[in-house]
Amino acid sequence: MPLSSDIQGEGHYYNPTFMKESATPIIGRIHSIESFGTVDGPGIRFLAFMQGCPMRCLFCHNPDTWDMKAPVKYEWTPEQLLEETLKYRNFIKTGGVTCTGGEPLMQAAFVEEYFRLCKQEGIHTALDTSGVILNDAVRRLLEVTDLVLLDIKTVDDALHQKLTAHTRTHNHQMMEYLQSMGKPVWIRHVVTPGINDDDEHLLAVARYVSQYSVVERVDILPYHVMGEYKYEPLGLEYPLKGTPALSAEKKKHALELFQSILSCKVV
Ligand code: SF4
Repeated sequence: MPLSSDIQGEGHYYNPTFMKESATPIIGRIHSIESFGTVDGPGIRFLAFMQGCPMRCLFCHNPDTWDMKAPVKYEWTPEQLLEETLKYRNFIKTGGVTCTGGEPLMQAAFVEEYFRLCKQEGIHTALDTSGVILNDAVRRLLEVTDLVLLDIKTVDDALHQKLTAHTRTHNHQMMEYLQSMGKPVWIRHVVTPGINDDDEHLLAVARYVSQYSVVERVDILPYHVMGEYKYEPLGLEYPLKGTPALSAEKKKHALELFQSILSCKVV
């Protein structure tokens, strides 16, 4: 099935009941949780992987989070997710919580309420997002978000469409909005061999990011193939079959290019 038709044929990915203020209680559809995350924000973090994503990134290693209607492990209220979070309070006291996915903006009202409760407990909140939605519910969520981990796939419009089945418009609007808010941002950039690992591309992304003073750090994420096995059981063809993982040398080169442009931390 063509990747673009995945999106167009599945209107429920944008089901408004998950994007607007819902009737009380708000129920979050949570694919899975992890109690000891170390790479999705500062310190040790409690992670909630939210179900549903409208993007179709060719390199996605979590295609099982795409379908908003797919069975999930947990259907919880924000209070129930907080209760689970607090079991790990001692571990995450120097870190916090991160909502990732999938695309957590698909369930903005739920995440907003969960983050609000976390902040009442003095817990740091981070949102890992592709920035694909920017509406009033998302703006309210950002008010209670301490740190945004924003994925930038590419700054080339045509390549963005090919890589994600979406235009880059929303991602750019989100970056601009975060800058206007003065919201701390960590950029995440997946580098995929043969797609976006050439110097021209890497330098263009670095130059784009350098315009934004809210960016505190850039994570260069090497493409890997660890999610490939998830596609077949979902009846999907792995779109990057045969593409090798990014080598350590190429990652080092990408880091050096970013560091030549940016003054923030690049890892
Ligand atoms: S935004 Fe993330 S979860 Fe969604 S398709 Fe892309 S990589 Fe996968």
